[in-house]
Amino acid sequence: MSSIPWKELEHLPSKEQRALQNQNLRAMVQKRLYPFSAYYRELFDREGISPKDIRCVEDLARLPLTSKRDLLPSEEDPERSRRMVLVPDKELITEHWGLRDRLPLLLQALTQGKSAVKEALRREYYPIFMTFTTGRSAQPVPFLYSRHDLDELEQSGTRLNSILGFHRDWRVLNLFPYAPHLAFWQVFMAGFAGGNMVLSTGGGKVAGTEGNLRGMERLQPESLVGVPGYLYHLLREARNRGMRMPQIQTIVLGADTVPPGLKIKLKTLLAEMGAEDLDILGTYGFTEARMAFAECPTKDGSSSGYHFYPDKGIFEIIDPETTEVLPFEADGELVYTPLTGRGTTVFRYRTGDRVQGGIQTGPCPHCGRTLPRISSRLSRASSITNLDLKKIKGTLVNMEEIGQVLADDLEIEEWQVEIRKKDNDPHEVDELILYISIRASAEIATVRERLQKEIKVRTEVTPNEILPLPLEQLLNRVGMEKEMKEKRFVDARAQQ
Ligand SMILES: [Zn+2]
Repeated sequence: MSSIPWKELEHLPSKEQRALQNQNLRAMVQKRLYPFSAYYRELFDREGISPKDIRCVEDLARLPLTSKRDLLPSEEDPERSRRMVLVPDKELITEHWGLRDRLPLLLQALTQGKSAVKEALRREYYPIFMTFTTGRSAQPVPFLYSRHDLDELEQSGTRLNSILGFHRDWRVLNLFPYAPHLAFWQVFMAGFAGGNMVLSTGGGKVAGTEGNLRGMERLQPESLVGVPGYLYHLLREARNRGMRMPQIQTIVLGADTVPPGLKIKLKTLLAEMGAEDLDILGTYGFTEARMAFAECPTKDGSSSGYHFYPDKGIFEIIDPETTEVLPFEADGELVYTPLTGRGTTVFRYRTGDRVQGGIQTGPCPHCGRTLPRISSRLSRASSITNLDLKKIKGTLVNMEEIGQVLADDLEIEEWQVEIRKKDNDPHEVDELILYISIRASAEIATVRERLQKEIKVRTEVTPNEILPLPLEQLLNRVGMEKEMKEKRFVDARAQQ
């Protein structure tokens, strides 16, 4: 595997990026994935593919995709994801590595002793940390990290700081929920690696509104980092108490989709607290990548897309129905292949995330970096729900689209979407109910009409009811500060 200094990578021409990816891909498949992953060795053998057949990004299409299902425990194998952990041993190394690959190990054994070789391999491969996937319905799957992977997490942290435009002297308030989830630890490690002062409060469930507001007041942070819904709730509370935060420079949102309207709402709130001219930036990360990618600051507040690191991974775009590989700029599902990780390693992994506008290559119009950028218009596939709104046939509705309309609406403070059976009768049709809490200055009739129209245009369905609720009641419904993640979508059909 070859590594390249960040300063060089940031502006590397596309062609050289591709050469670097191909080189790292070959090393990954031949030296690590095939020899050390029980799952992928079996898969290659079953498909009749030799590790030597995968020489460049285009060759990846020959490999079957891996999806969440392949990681879930099965009856025969309750710890199925373990088969995707890279586990080297002496026999596997002797069997799969040529003399040229083994030479450095042999030399190290000669000069420093066999225990030094063992120790180096342990640092590189032995799992010492884990985070879990956070699917709504599926069981959480552990993703293991070796010390090497934590070094990678630190490195992606410093890269994030660079793209987000963080200054070294900035103090950062980390509001992500304290949990074995990527977001919290990515920010934690970014602070360690970048040398920033970071206060990690553990988020709403751990520190509560009071604790977080106190933290904000004492630390006087230049940057707040957290889940969009929670950050908005906290800043609204801060504004209502007359707090001033003129020092804030950047708000970083993660672990959830970032609706453009929410960025505007946050900006308005912060302006009322004395913070002008600040950046509100989104990030995109997922457990299986074990790192996150960020937007860069833009003059007009538009979204630059998420800059990713071609030396560390490959993104493909596929047609979610046919699984055919599409051109970079196409709409489709994101598929990820890591190139430098150890521990739990998935290859050609179906993220389930749909992107509109695909991946942009060429220099970023905002920061000039040549890193490829994933369009900021992302939605999670898990939010595509089958609704029986009529007796005849089901309709597939992307709940995320409805959520986006609600989050984008400047007159809506909080919201929740509920699907239930008409009259609580399991044989009846489904109903779509929206609960909203609107601003004091807003007219419910106008908001209702606007939502009906907008949701119909975006999803082709019309909500059965749009019910206004007082803010406190709605905050209770979504479980703000009680749940690890706000309950924005409730499917009450199964319980009836
Ligand atoms: Zn940029």
